[in-house]
Amino acid sequence: MSLPRILSLAKLEPQDVADRLTTTYQVIRDIAAATDVEVVLTTGGLGLSAKQMAALPALRLIAVNGVGVDAVDLPEARRRGIAVTTTPDVLSLAVAEMALGLALAAGRRIAEGDRFIRSGAWADKNKLPLGMSVLERRAGILGYGRIGRKLADLLRGMGMEVLYTARSEKPGVPDSYRPDPLSLARDCDLLFVTAAGGAENRGLVDAEILTALGPRGVVVNVARGPVVETAALAHALQSGQIAGAGLDVFDDEPNVPPSLLEAPNCVLAPHIGSATTEARRAMAQLVLDNIDAYFAGRPLPTPYEQG
Ligand code: NAP
Repeated sequence: MSLPRILSLAKLEPQDVADRLTTTYQVIRDIAAATDVEVVLTTGGLGLSAKQMAALPALRLIAVNGVGVDAVDLPEARRRGIAVTTTPDVLSLAVAEMALGLALAAGRRIAEGDRFIRSGAWADKNKLPLGMSVLERRAGILGYGRIGRKLADLLRGMGMEVLYTARSEKPGVPDSYRPDPLSLARDCDLLFVTAAGGAENRGLVDAEILTALGPRGVVVNVARGPVVETAALAHALQSGQIAGAGLDVFDDEPNVPPSLLEAPNCVLAPHIGSATTEARRAMAQLVLDNIDAYFAGRPLPTPYEQG
């Protein structure tokens, strides 16, 4: 019996789960050879455009290995009745951990200290400027969803005061609500950006918000690059309007503009928020569970509900 065919634009990790995919399905990598396929496997970063969907007339399911759906043309998927699944929750701890790591790296000058030693500056009797105590600062979380709340739990557990904003106030949560990003930025020192990406959130963190954050402020972005205005951020870092930044996501990955490469106290990571063996295994398993459910005619375990 021939195996069901799927188009895979991405590679699952680790290898044993990837092997499960290729032993259960006939995996096609070339979209031109996939006019009959009903299932596409993609990532949050790659998504699936309307043009790609047009090349796939039999498409019924877009299985995203990730939670960001900003790169999937959702209106087109909805119009054609194509289901979309994601991998929620199983990556939240990994991304929250990354956000915490970036805050510590920027606040305590960890990446800078590494470069300082390797360049020979320490051996030449130079000194690094003082860092800041991250855990003694007030944290603000912009985007209080699955990742934002997991991060809030970690920060609160370390004794930090946590404020948050989201599109709506959440009842019965331990952290204090601010009605918008500007009032959040005014009241916190560490601004963690964990909101969804997409057109409506482009430039959510702009020059006004960075000014409100102030010279003790650090911005950490683990959401999507465009959520923070790059030019405004680079200017705020260069001019000392804020103290530092930790960035896992960028506008035009894998290209990072010189303005950020040269900005002082800006810690950079190559979009590795969910890149742990533990998270990637659980994500890959969930991708397989969704694809298996589709072919078995069962309800999809983690459909992305389009609003
Ligand atoms: P989620 O559960 O859907 O949470 C998204 C949160 O963003 C919600 O609380 C939502 O508010 C809030 N939000 C959306 N627009 C907003 C706005 N304009 N102002 C304030 N808050 C806003 O998603 P998640 O699982 O936590 O993931 C969040 C994002 O992280 C993803 O969309 C993805 O872009 C990014 N991500 C990055 C990595 C990485 O490797 N760096 C990995 C995974 C995910 P409401 O609750 O009020 O609707």
